This record gives sequence, C-alpha cells and structure tokens, in this order.
Amino acid sequence: KAWPESEGLTFEDLQKIILETPDENQARDWSKYYTSGPHLAGKNLSQALWTRDRWQEAGVKSDIVSYDVYINYPVGHRLALLEQKKHESKVRFECSLTEDVLEEDPTTNLTDRIPTFHGYSASGNVTALYVFVNFGTYQDYEDLRARNISLKGKIAIAKYGRNFRGLKVKRAQELGMVGVVMYSDPQEDGEMTEANGHKPYPDGPARNPSSVQRGSTQFLSSLPGDPTTPGYPSKPGVPRTDGNLSIPRIPSLPISYRDALPLLQALNGHGPNATSFNKYWQGGGLSHKNVSYNIGPSPEHVQLNLVNQQEYVINPLWNVIGIINGTLKDEVIVLGNHRDAWIAGGAGDPNSGSAALNEVIRSFGVALSKGWKPLRTIVFASWDGEEYGLVGSTEWVEEYLPWLSASTVAYLNVDVGARGKHFEASASPLLNDVLYEITKMVSSPNQTTKGQTVRDTWEGKIKTMGSGSDFTAFQDFAGIASLDMGFGNGPKDPVYHYHSNYDSFAWMNKYGDASWEYHTTIAKIWALLAAKLSETPILPLSAETYAEGLQYYLSTVKETARQSNTTKNFDFKPLEGNLARLETNAKFFDTYTRGLTAEVGEHVPWWKFWKKVRLWYKVKAANAKYKLLERQFLHPDGLDDDRSWFKHVVFAPGRWTGYAGATFPGLVESFEDGDLKNAHKWEKIILNILDRAAELLKTEEGNELRVYR
Ligand code: GLU
Ligand code: CA
Ligand code: ZN
Ligand code: ZN
Repeated sequence: KAWPESEGLTFEDLQKIILETPDENQARDWSKYYTSGPHLAGKNLSQALWTRDRWQEAGVKSDIVSYDVYINYPVGHRLALLEQKKHESKVRFECSLTEDVLEEDPTTNLTDRIPTFHGYSASGNVTALYVFVNFGTYQDYEDLRARNISLKGKIAIAKYGRNFRGLKVKRAQELGMVGVVMYSDPQEDGEMTEANGHKPYPDGPARNPSSVQRGSTQFLSSLPGDPTTPGYPSKPGVPRTDGNLSIPRIPSLPISYRDALPLLQALNGHGPNATSFNKYWQGGGLSHKNVSYNIGPSPEHVQLNLVNQQEYVINPLWNVIGIINGTLKDEVIVLGNHRDAWIAGGAGDPNSGSAALNEVIRSFGVALSKGWKPLRTIVFASWDGEEYGLVGSTEWVEEYLPWLSASTVAYLNVDVGARGKHFEASASPLLNDVLYEITKMVSSPNQTTKGQTVRDTWEGKIKTMGSGSDFTAFQDFAGIASLDMGFGNGPKDPVYHYHSNYDSFAWMNKYGDASWEYHTTIAKIWALLAAKLSETPILPLSAETYAEGLQYYLSTVKETARQSNTTKNFDFKPLEGNLARLETNAKFFDTYTRGLTAEVGEHVPWWKFWKKVRLWYKVKAANAKYKLLERQFLHPDGLDDDRSWFKHVVFAPGRWTGYAGATFPGLVESFEDGDLKNAHKWEKIILNILDRAAELLKTEEGNELRVYR
C-alpha cells in the first residue's frame, strides 16, 4: 500500500475506481442527451438543470450560477453575387447559407436548428467589390498592401484557419474594409478530401460541401467574456460599457465552400494570382473545382451584397458548479468543460468533453460512496457561453477572483474531448510533469503494440497556453496554472466538421469515436490528474520545469528582438540573470520538496502525519509556494493598449493569432513594434516579477513558516 492515500480509500483503490468506472455505453448515452437539440448559450436552462441533477445524484453538491450577459442571436442574413448589366443589377448567385439536411443524420433535420452566423457580429447591409485575403492573417493583409491591392471599402473573402476568426474581422475593420465572408477551404482538411478521392460525409470521411463553421468574431485577444463588463462579473444591474473593445463594427458571415465556389470563380483572371505570393498563399483546396485563386478585386460590375441582422439582448447564462469538499479548504482543484454549442449537435465540441466530465463525476461518486473524502477540495464546472467568447467561465472567475486566487492550485480544462485519435495538450509548465506521469497510467485506445499507454502513443508535445477556451480567465487573468487537453484529429483522421451541423451524434458514432473509447480515455486521464493533484501530500508540481519553460520562451523572444533594427542590440543579460536565479531557486525548492516527500514517508497517509505539527506546517508552506508561484507572474495593469484585461506577463493569446499563445507578450510586442522604450518598460516589470518568484521559492529554514499563515 503506497501513499498518497486518502481518507477511507488508498490512492490505489481510488485509481482503480477511476480506471474502471468510465463506460463507453454510458459516455454514448451522455452524448446522445446533450446532442439531441439546440443548446446555444442562454438557451439551455433545461440542460443546465439536468446536468446539476445528474451531478447531485452522483453525490456532488451542485448549483446553478447565473450571469446576465450581453449577447446576440441571428435574425436574418443574405449573401448574393450581383452583376451590373447596363442599368440593372442581376443576381448571379444567391448563397444558400444553409447546411444540407441528411437522412442519415437526424440532428441535421430538426426544425429548430440554428442558422449560420457569427457570435458578436455586427449587423449591416453592404454591397461592395470583394477581395480574396487568403486566411486573413495580419501578414496576409500586409502582403496585399505591399502589392497595392486596394482594400478600403471592399468586402474580404477569407479562408478559415490559422488565426482566430474574430481577428480576421478586426484587421479588415482597421483597414477600412466593410464586411468579411469566411469559408471552409478543404486545404485545411488534411488527407481526407474529395480531391483525394474520399466521399464527403455522410458517405465518407471528407468534408460535406455544405458544411458551415459558425463561431464567435469577438476580438478575443483584447477581451474575453461579456464585452460590456470588462474585469467584473455581469451581475444584474451592473454598469456596462459599449462593448466596442471586443465587438466588431463591420458585418461578417460564415459560408460553406459550396457557396464560396461561384464567388471565388468570379475572381478568376482578376488581380494577381495567389501563386505569385509567398508560400502561405499557395495550396488552396478548390483548384480542381475551377478556382484559380486570384486575389481580385472583383471586376467593377461584380459585387457582393452581404446582409447580417443580429438582435442584441441581455440574457441570463447558466453555469453548473459542483463541489466535493476536501479536508483542506484552501487548496482547490477546478475542472471545467463548456456545455453550450453552436448547433443542435456538438458531439465533439463541447459535448465529448461534457460526456467525459460526467464520467469523471460518476467515478468520483463511486469513490465517495465507498467513504472517500479528498484531501483537497475539487470543483467542477459546466460552463455556458464559451462559444461566444468564454463568457460563463470568465464572468465566474471575475466574480470569485479573491477566493480562487487564495485557494486554487490548478484548473484542468477539456473542451473537445474527442474528435480524432491524437492526444493534444497545452499547459502551464508547472503541470507538464504530472501530465506525463498520468498519461503513462492510462492505456491508449490507439495501440500499435499491445499494452501501449496514452503517453506511448503521444509524441509528448505540450503547447504553450494561448486562448480560445475556458482556461483563459484562469491562466491569464487569475494566474492559476492551467491545462487544456483532448483527443484531436490528425491529417489522416476523418474531417471534423467544426461548429457545423455535422458535428453530430451520428458523425461521432460513425467517424469520430465509433467505439466511444476516446471519450472514456479522456475521462480517465482527467479524473486521475484531478486525483493526483488533490491527494498527493506534496503537490506534484515542478517549479524547475516552469523555469525551464521560461528559459525556452525567453530564447524565442530574443529571436523576435533580433529581427528589428531598433531592438536587435537589446541587452538580455539582466533578464537572463534574474531567470537564472529563479531557476536555481526552483531546483533547490523541488529538491527540498522531494525531501519532504521522503520525510512524510512513502507509506504514511496524510491523516497520520498531520499530527507531526512541524512536518505538517512544512508541507502546507511548501504547497502554498507551489500554489502561489503562477500568481507571481501577474502584472495588475495588464498588457498594453486595448489588452489591459490580460494580466499574465508570460502567457497571453497572440495579438493577431488568438488561439496560439504569445510568450512574454509585453516584451515580444514591443520588439514587433520596434519600440525600444516600451521594451525597457516591460524588462523592468518582468525583472521584478522574476525576482519576486525567485524570492517566493527560497528554501531557508523558517521561510516556509512565514508563508503559511
Ligand atoms: N472556442 C471558441 C472558438 O474558438 C472560443 C471563442 C472565443 O474565445 O471567443 O470559437
Ligand atoms: Ca465581465
Ligand atoms: Zn468548445
Ligand atoms: Zn467551439
């Protein structure tokens, strides 16, 4: 019998329950429930109540936590290709803006299915010439400007992919464009394409040509959450801003590649060809459909009419929050997944995660029924409004910030738990080691050799935290070490119909996770991570890995500095010096806590050693340092310009990427802007923070006792 042990159960008993409880048929049933009808943000009270009741049944105290948020719902839309002939304007093509109803997939045929639209998009009715802008990244627009393509007053047509969709709109707006159309080019679909001879869904794994990616166009790298309550919770009656910081002012629409074809074909022969640009412009996936990928603008007599009608309201959202009280109330682990979806289905996004979360809770319920009481408190969240802009989670973190900040050790997020065969994770480096350890304990559903674990079939890359899911407020606003994971789709997996009607139960049951084993596997990893973090007497976090992560991030920042003339001689020695000191202290600290682990004794459960008061105090003090380490990296004024909500000096969504993270964002952006003065401002801020973190980790006798009060 080895520690960690918990009250009433050994860790091994708990581990056994966690590995044996999740059940494929049960996961399938949860999925069936969540994907059986629309559950758009603010329109899913019945699913919130149902979720709460299931959690209660499992023995987890649960409640609804509601916010009044500013949000939009679609009223009407139109996209038409107009042709001016003499004095009359003719409709050359009217986009359907709807996804095909499929006999094989009942969710595509519900009468109340949700129209194709963008969350937080601007209403408008514009008629204009249009330009193909590739992916609509910052660099793409720069490339167009370099080639003197006129953008002002035009509508952009952009491929989905590479950056967050709202940032495609943000840059278009800044450049004076009047609207944006986005479509799903098969270029982003990997190998399972029609061009490669695969049949489209439902007959095969390729993209259904009518599929449309809905999604938020909020400017998420400026401000997530309710756009009208930056930094504070959207409680009834609170004062509100106009929301302009994160809501676009030009209209946009998402369309299918089938609807995009005539629009792209009308550009053939007009303006430069994408192949004459650099490699990022090459490789569109519709060349076999008579699209030559010309940039445009469209000829004078060919215009687009884009109509987007949105109704903005202040509506309640419903998070479900569950809690298992541990013996320690000031050390908390939070697990979360969002429940709201753009479509009636949402079998992958987010309800593969919701099904997994229910299996995690069911597993802990079994343990509770056998007398388990966790050492640390475990909190569960089923978020609402993630899709519009991480709204439910952000408002909750903003409301409970003082408590979260004082007590939370880690936040573990699963959004899409299963949509393919490839384990993916991003994390604060504090959590890297424990993630490696846990993935070695769970068997892989994708074995090429018998007995392989998830760790064995995963290349082991842990990405840096960016944004685009509910970990953002925890990591970037509250400074809580966070992790995000799930089984993603690789280039050889069936095409995942992200934010489309075809992210359905039927798709999941046939293509995404036919055996439902990826659902149960992510549930096991998630529960085991939570168990390890909640039960181990000395927190299984690694300060040294964090410091190594910082070293790596700093090396990438150097590269950016070198690329600009004004900053290429920036002296990194002071930063390197402080970071080296932090790394030294981190190493000593981890060694010290390994010593504590040895002292606590391998076979001694915590409730036996806590009477050894001095040792117990040492453990509490050491854990407090691990818990508060991530918090040291917060800068209360936040990032520059319109990004002051983001408080972490190491992690933030890239200004122009959104999903992908920028590391040391203040510094990197100063270098990108060639602003040496600002770089020195950030240098000072970061020097202080590194100092503070190094100070926190000092291990002199007595220091531990001072931290714990
Ligand atoms: N997961 C959502 C998306 O990628 C997040 C939206 C947001 O962060 O604003 O569309
Ligand atoms: Ca808010
Ligand atoms: Zn999601
Ligand atoms: Zn989503």
